[in-house]
Amino acid sequence: MGTEERDFKSLGVTRQFINAMEDMGYEEPTEIQKKAIPRVLSGNDLIGIAQTGTGKTAAFVVPVLQRLKFAKGVVPRAIIMEPTKELAIQTESMVRQLMTYTDLRVVVLYGGAGLKSQREALEVGTDIIVATPGRMMELYHTGYLVVQKLEVLVLDEADRLMDMGFMHQLRPILEVIPVKRQNLLFSASFSAKVEELSHEFLEYPTRVEVSPQSSTAETIDQRIYRIPNFKTKLFFLEQLLGDEEMERVLVFCRTKDRADRVFRYLERKVEGEVRVIHSNKGQNTRINAFKAFQEGEVRVLVATDVSARGIDVAKVSHVVNLDIPRTIVDYTHRIGRTGRAKHHGVAISFSDPSEKYFVKLIEELIGMEIPVFDNPEEMQIMDFLPRELREMEIEIDRQKQLRDPNYKGAFHDRKNSKKKRFGHES
Ligand code: AMP
Repeated sequence: MGTEERDFKSLGVTRQFINAMEDMGYEEPTEIQKKAIPRVLSGNDLIGIAQTGTGKTAAFVVPVLQRLKFAKGVVPRAIIMEPTKELAIQTESMVRQLMTYTDLRVVVLYGGAGLKSQREALEVGTDIIVATPGRMMELYHTGYLVVQKLEVLVLDEADRLMDMGFMHQLRPILEVIPVKRQNLLFSASFSAKVEELSHEFLEYPTRVEVSPQSSTAETIDQRIYRIPNFKTKLFFLEQLLGDEEMERVLVFCRTKDRADRVFRYLERKVEGEVRVIHSNKGQNTRINAFKAFQEGEVRVLVATDVSARGIDVAKVSHVVNLDIPRTIVDYTHRIGRTGRAKHHGVAISFSDPSEKYFVKLIEELIGMEIPVFDNPEEMQIMDFLPRELREMEIEIDRQKQLRDPNYKGAFHDRKNSKKKRFGHES
């Protein structure tokens, strides 16, 4: 057909998994899913180089479940290895959601607790196992885990598995499981260790790769402050800018209007030149502002996501998200501008109560929790802007409706009752 657009169906995914993904809010496949799903479905061994946040888990879980199709026998036919308990639990939860419209069964095995219940679950029977190496070996050696029927073995986060000295744990397993099986290896990087593992573990693998996100670069120190409203954010930003270490600061706002307000305020209040760019300004003005910023003439550049798109800046010392982006991938674009090329960077985000929801989505996307810092004691809490509180309430209500389709919405009910609005006067 010659078109680049490929939906799940054209990748070969069957209805019951498409339905499950629809329930999970997946509208179209991610890049790694487009590349990996058809290849895994064809039965080949595969190396997938992709970071957390790219959708790589579903990229292997969906075709593996599709291969297993329906519940069969007692002993597992697929094993997914994970380096940590947390990852094992997360992956198991994704497997469960994706298998909603099948009768497939999954059991998760990890150390620390629940040995007895894990044994029992294995005795009852399962089709797929998600496991950390230690507990898996323990259950294997004690005879509870039978691997003779294994058809698929997945090593997820293989680079981390290798760092944990996983190879000598794996070898004895490889010796007993059927030779004729499908092997999949996923890793954030293709390090020497992973390459070695791939020689030992895979047979004529295809390799697929998606470009790493600059976002989760290890050189970026990310943090969040919880701040009640716009004016408080502004005052706090001014306070932060009292620190000379903040020498080249990119400040992101949600709208042009907010960017202009921030600019007008900072211009009067802080040391060093401040400029603003947004889509009302012409392309040249924007490029010049970036150039001046790059050359160190401008200390603080205030921007919106749209205005900053496609413009590259090296060496930004700090990115400040005055507002959390609602298009969550913008978070990774924004913070990718600091900490470049091994320069240490800092990304500071201010989150008001209506933005907590987006922080959570971002954390899922980047696969980590962003540390929340305590507000300094001397932080001045300012008034809300006109309509600001109400807008926040409406937004929080909208989020509730998104999460719970049965929730009718507070505003819906109270349209005609002006007096009882969340206990606020005015
Ligand atoms: P992962 O890289 O597997 O850790 O996935 C990162 C996040 O992306 C998870 O929250 C997934 O639920 C989500 N995700 C995976 N595939 C898709 C998709 N096709 N569309 C939307 N979200 C997705």
